[in-house]
Amino acid sequence: MVPGRCGWVGTMVLALVCAACGPSPAPVVVLVSWDTTRADALGCYADVAHWGLDLRAARHPSPRTPRVDALAASGVRHQWAIAHAPTTLASHASMMSGRDTRGARVPRNGFPIEPDVPLLAPRFAAAGWQSVAVVGASVLSRDMGLSRGFLVYDDHLTQKVRRRYERSADDVVDRTLAIVDRRSLVDHWTPLFLFVHFFDAHSPWDSSPAELRSTMVDPSYAGAVDGSSDSVDWLVKATRAGRVGSDDRIRARALYLAEVASMDAALGRLLDGLEQRFAMEDALVVVVGDHGEALDLPASRPYGHGFDVDLVASHVPFVASGSGRFAVPAGVVVDRPVGLMDVAPTIAAMAGLPVDPSASGLDLQPVWRGDADAAAILEERVLLAEATKPTQAEAAPDWNNRYKERGAFGRRLLVTESPWEDRTPPSAFELAPGQPEASDASRSSVERLEGALRTWDAGAPDYRDPEMTSETKAALRGLGYLD
Ligand SMILES: [Zn+2]
Repeated sequence: MVPGRCGWVGTMVLALVCAACGPSPAPVVVLVSWDTTRADALGCYADVAHWGLDLRAARHPSPRTPRVDALAASGVRHQWAIAHAPTTLASHASMMSGRDTRGARVPRNGFPIEPDVPLLAPRFAAAGWQSVAVVGASVLSRDMGLSRGFLVYDDHLTQKVRRRYERSADDVVDRTLAIVDRRSLVDHWTPLFLFVHFFDAHSPWDSSPAELRSTMVDPSYAGAVDGSSDSVDWLVKATRAGRVGSDDRIRARALYLAEVASMDAALGRLLDGLEQRFAMEDALVVVVGDHGEALDLPASRPYGHGFDVDLVASHVPFVASGSGRFAVPAGVVVDRPVGLMDVAPTIAAMAGLPVDPSASGLDLQPVWRGDADAAAILEERVLLAEATKPTQAEAAPDWNNRYKERGAFGRRLLVTESPWEDRTPPSAFELAPGQPEASDASRSSVERLEGALRTWDAGAPDYRDPEMTSETKAALRGLGYLD
């Protein structure tokens, strides 16, 4: 135990003395991932919307995320943060390892992160921090490898939703605060890394409180879309068949935004609860999305994610705010693209952890401070993303995602190589008025990104066998079965 500011260790004495001089705040780093959250589902990203709906403005439900918007205003917001994969486990492997999906060797859900991939929590543990994770869905259950290094990894999920288990952001927050209140588990005078995962924005969209939802949906709607799994199934079929109506699309979007609003309210409860417990005078809070959600676009693969790496799938929120040793400049908006692989190197550097020289991501702090050289590096860098579906595209011995849609992001341009006929690369992803259309992109810029994709493919890892992971093989070998 690290003694408080008073210098006393004994519990009774500490309580008496600290009542007079105040608690000694332990450093706290909080990483909150919002599953299935498009950047434009947040109020602070409203200027980069990809909704693609040509609907009357008066009927548009708007994002309602005051807590994360306030975090962005008090800190840094990355205007163009890119997920390297459009499904949960692969994206979190990037976020926690400082590598893209190929560097982390996680092609999709169900492939555990292998033990030799460096992750953030073990690095915190090695530096004497305690780490706690509370996850919202079974795709991140402990046997998927993300639990390595955590003192507590809470994946106690009780609500069955088809093939997975999940719980609401409110439940995740209740559980998180209950864990940090268990002094036998969490020592409030030792630095704490907290990873919190909200899953509500993933369909079905039925976990937002009724009173919140009622303020975001049109009460006159009389259609079939109620946010349930069955109604999302209906939306997929009706959209593919061209039978979905504008009212249904609006309804689905409103229900989705209500789930995001609900996660924002839960974030507020989490931060308020941590403030009461840790003072948060020496704290860093990072909020990211793990990938987006198609909703009604593209119409051939609607209401889901995994098949595409277009902007609705890849453009995610990334906001950071801090205090004390983690202070970040306020009100900074970084418009050069960054990747989720930059999350771990940035957090690690801010916490003073030893550098992971094998990581591909960057410590973004120099960019936040306006360092021109660091900004130039981001300007030149190409970020890469790959779809994780369909599994039928996988062809051993090549890397599992080699023949799925892949994308390269660089200098405001997204180039995709895609098996889908309705994809027409390249596309400009700077949507501010006055920016160049995709057709204006110079051939050399497109070729640069195409070259990056070729290099990425040439260096791809080996195929991972979904039937027998390397861990399983190692375990079986250890038992003498595979020799
Ligand atoms: Zn996800």
